[in-house]
Amino acid sequence: HMADYLISGGTGYVPEDGLSAQQLFSIGDGLTYNDFLILPGFIDFTSDEVDLTSALTRKITLKTPLISSPMDTVTESAMAIAMALMGGIGIIHHNCTPEFQANEVRKVKRFEQGFITDPVVMSPRQTVGDVFEAKVRHGFSGIPVTETGKMGSKLVGIVTSRDIDFLSEKDRGKPLEEAMTKREELVVAPAGVTLKEANDILQRSKKGKLPIVNNNDELVAIIARTDLKKNRDYPLASKDSRKQLLCGAAIGTREDDKYRLDLLVQAGVDVVVLDSSQGNSVYQINMINYIKQKYPELQVVGGNVVTAAQAKNLIDAGVDALRVGMGCGSICITQEVMACGRPQGTSVYKVAEYARRFGVPVIADGGIQTVGHVVKALSLGASTVMMGSLLAATTEAPGEYFFSDGVRLKKYRGMGSLDAMEKSTSSQKRYFSEGDNVKVAQGVSGSVQDKGSIHKFVPYLIAGIQHGCQDIGAKSLSVLRSMMYSGELKFEKRTMSAQVEGGVHGLHSYEKRLY
Ligand code: GDP
Ligand code: GDP
Ligand code: 5GP
Repeated sequence: HMADYLISGGTGYVPEDGLSAQQLFSIGDGLTYNDFLILPGFIDFTSDEVDLTSALTRKITLKTPLISSPMDTVTESAMAIAMALMGGIGIIHHNCTPEFQANEVRKVKRFEQGFITDPVVMSPRQTVGDVFEAKVRHGFSGIPVTETGKMGSKLVGIVTSRDIDFLSEKDRGKPLEEAMTKREELVVAPAGVTLKEANDILQRSKKGKLPIVNNNDELVAIIARTDLKKNRDYPLASKDSRKQLLCGAAIGTREDDKYRLDLLVQAGVDVVVLDSSQGNSVYQINMINYIKQKYPELQVVGGNVVTAAQAKNLIDAGVDALRVGMGCGSICITQEVMACGRPQGTSVYKVAEYARRFGVPVIADGGIQTVGHVVKALSLGASTVMMGSLLAATTEAPGEYFFSDGVRLKKYRGMGSLDAMEKSTSSQKRYFSEGDNVKVAQGVSGSVQDKGSIHKFVPYLIAGIQHGCQDIGAKSLSVLRSMMYSGELKFEKRTMSAQVEGGVHGLHSYEKRLY
């Protein structure tokens, strides 16, 4: 469309410029995202009109092409809920028991906006000191009290900041049954109440919290007034036909992963990701066959692969999407240790170009350092992009913040790091064979600086991708892909000095704020 416009204009002929994707990758060198740029096109639309709808798998479509990686420092239920609310999806990691993982999936599937279904709960025997501590650790002090100190047990009271504000250090040992507001005085709502009804009850009660109880007076959720006030709308949210948020989970390819799979399916998982750094294996093919036979409706992502030959076997076995990347992750030392891998730009282009003939979408996994890299991955044929480090150290990532040299950090580690492998056996399985007595690490363990909430960061990524597509002149991701495959989209290699020129340079000092 752009070419027509230019040629029909007054000045006529425009010489060929730049390389098509096919030309760019025919040179033979493996290219990373930093090794090339995209030449700008023609803009006749605003950036917020750009449609980012894209396929996650054969059957699942997302409005935002972003996925959080199945890593134990990135995706548990809080991350998966936030990603799905904003139109992406989270894949729950499997460096944990099958029961824990399935329960995280269940939390995502049962998530109802405004309802906190797994709040911090205490027992009447816990103390005022415990509430002080919870306040420091979590930032809130409205804590329901149940008989056992767990959800699903009889509600006996609630303790909030007003109950403990005037208490001091000497009251730390006081049991909560003496400090809390007792059950008889509480305004509660029955399970099944809608958000709107709950809102009315809260308004009339003038209280800060509304416990939700079932017929046996057992606590099933709470609602905070602050959440109703800031109740946001999520028009992009990824939902299934029953209006529950979409959720993915990673599994391995061992015999006991079949049990894990059963629990995940019972919890309502929508897509499973077969988590392997080299997915072209007899184990993975057998697992795909097994899943497709037992749960034909379940979407299965195979991988990781970086060549068309690897992809072929998994496509033949029936995968619904492919995860692409080997050795490009920020925490990854696979290429150093195993000598195998491929620069990520080339991997994405080669696999996507092959897989599209079979209608199999590609997930570009790893090596995403900036929003520009997301745009590049999508422009090379990836349908979605999976991120680890970029989403680590957000509020929704698992783990507590800590300070080092005055910087607020969260831990981020490779699932093939010794650190992660010592935690449980499942990530050992991704990176080792059973018989191995010597462990060879394929990842490192480190930390990432606090990024705040995903609810601020993902909208920045979305807007950034839309701006990138606007500059390219692609009003949607499907237009972007067809421009690339038709050769209309032009690329150029980037020399070392071009990369220096493309970064900030020549300043005495500067501050880099992204959004
Ligand atoms: P930039 O920061 O130099 O990219 O440009 P602007 O922030 O001024 O605008 C962003 C893009 O929106 C431009 O590249 C224009 O194509 C487009 N644009 C600028 N002004 C208008 C306008 O008034 N209406 C519309 N629809 N688009 C505009
Ligand atoms: P509080 O009065 O000190 O409990 O704080 P607010 O009610 O003003 O704010 C609590 C915020 O923390 C709300 O946005 C909640 O959704 C959020 N939150 C997340 N998890 C929990 C939890 O387990 N318990 C409570 N009380 N709040 C939580
Ligand atoms: P990032 O977004 O941090 O660059 O990369 C995240 C990706 O790295 C993950 O989605 C996963 O594919 C890969 N990965 C995670 N842990 C390890 C590891 O320990 N070793 C290797 N080789 N790759 C890892």
